[in-house]
Amino acid sequence: MNRTLTTDEAALAAPSFISEAASKAEPIAVPSVLFVDQSGQLGGAEFSLLPLAVRWTAHREVLLLSDGPFRQRLESMQVKVHLTLEASVSKINKEALHLNWFFALPGILRQVRAIARHARQFDILFLNTQKALVLGALGKPLHRKKIIWHLHDIMTREHFGFFQRLIVKWITRYAVDHIVANSRASAVSLVDLIKCPPESVPVVHNGVDVDEFSRTDGEDAGTIRQLLGLPDEVHLIGLFGRLAPWKGQHIALEALALLPDMHLVLVGSALFGEQAYVESLRRQATRLGVEQRLHFAGFRDDMPAWMKAVDVILHTSTEPEPFGRVIIEGMAAGRPVIAAAAGGVVEIVRHRKNGWLVPPGNPATLADAIETLRAAPELARRLADQALLDVQQHFSLDAYVARMTDAIIRVAC
Ligand code: UDP
Repeated sequence: MNRTLTTDEAALAAPSFISEAASKAEPIAVPSVLFVDQSGQLGGAEFSLLPLAVRWTAHREVLLLSDGPFRQRLESMQVKVHLTLEASVSKINKEALHLNWFFALPGILRQVRAIARHARQFDILFLNTQKALVLGALGKPLHRKKIIWHLHDIMTREHFGFFQRLIVKWITRYAVDHIVANSRASAVSLVDLIKCPPESVPVVHNGVDVDEFSRTDGEDAGTIRQLLGLPDEVHLIGLFGRLAPWKGQHIALEALALLPDMHLVLVGSALFGEQAYVESLRRQATRLGVEQRLHFAGFRDDMPAWMKAVDVILHTSTEPEPFGRVIIEGMAAGRPVIAAAAGGVVEIVRHRKNGWLVPPGNPATLADAIETLRAAPELARRLADQALLDVQQHFSLDAYVARMTDAIIRVAC
């Protein structure tokens, strides 16, 4: 099932572990992997799985528990996708877990069996989301494959209910062979929950294709401003990511109301049914009298161009962000980033060095930070330049894929 890498391929794929073996001229067996993700939508967890699945050199497939644009994106990049859809399971969300699970039990068992059946054809089961973790790990007695879990969440009491934390705790203790966390913030929360040694939850930060973000030219940016009906001289603030209450778009609107001559563009959509929040943003804009200066761009595939079209990029999450891909993307796009200092964000942004940190949920301080960077373009440029260097050095796509490959191969050995 697995494929042996040539020495050259091995050195490229995973510098630390593989290249040690490659230097001893030993053949390295790359395991076949079944990647499992619960979402058909394109969120941060899915964007981090995408390059791993695309670049995996041995047999691999992605098994999705819901259909959507993520499937199309994977297939357009020649990754084979297998769908295992069970409507009753997809209805279970973290708020309604205790009410729904009993009715969903037959569906859950069907999905556990379906994943296990499929997993038998692979060496490793890579579980990318929490529902995938539960359903994939429950089937371990059936598939008997090694399991690696990519943790993308901060597992604290504030974010997850008692029951969900209990399930995660037992499953990770008894069925998961290896965990990789997307930030120290996520890792620490899991270590607290399952009471394991910190070294058993290693951290691999996400990476971005820096060239893709930095090569987009000014022409695209000009086109986007035309699309919004904005002249070049208007100071445009950008907030990127799905529209959801904890992403704090309402905080950005409050800040906009304090900055009378600026415009704000929200790039992203309500991916998980937060339509009521979108409506509340529109009402808030009217109430604040900023609707003429607020632009909803919807979900966009060309994030580099949109990021380059703005003068400053905001991150406004009101809860600690597990990682925040949009921040490293903004840094790669060469724009100054103002971010809410909590969770994984403080592992990326260094205040006044490569970006600007503000306390979460405070519109006045956010408005001050925006105004400060506008008034000091040289400072803003210096932060953006340092951010680009930092992202090249610490958050590159190649390093991310290499470290994840390393982790997966170690589990297989
Ligand atoms: N994204 C996108 N188009 C949009 C909005 C967001 O492609 O219109 C992408 C964005 O570039 C980033 C991801 O969605 O890669 C969001 O990841 P992040 O970690 O910031 O947030 P999450 O969705 O995981 O909470």
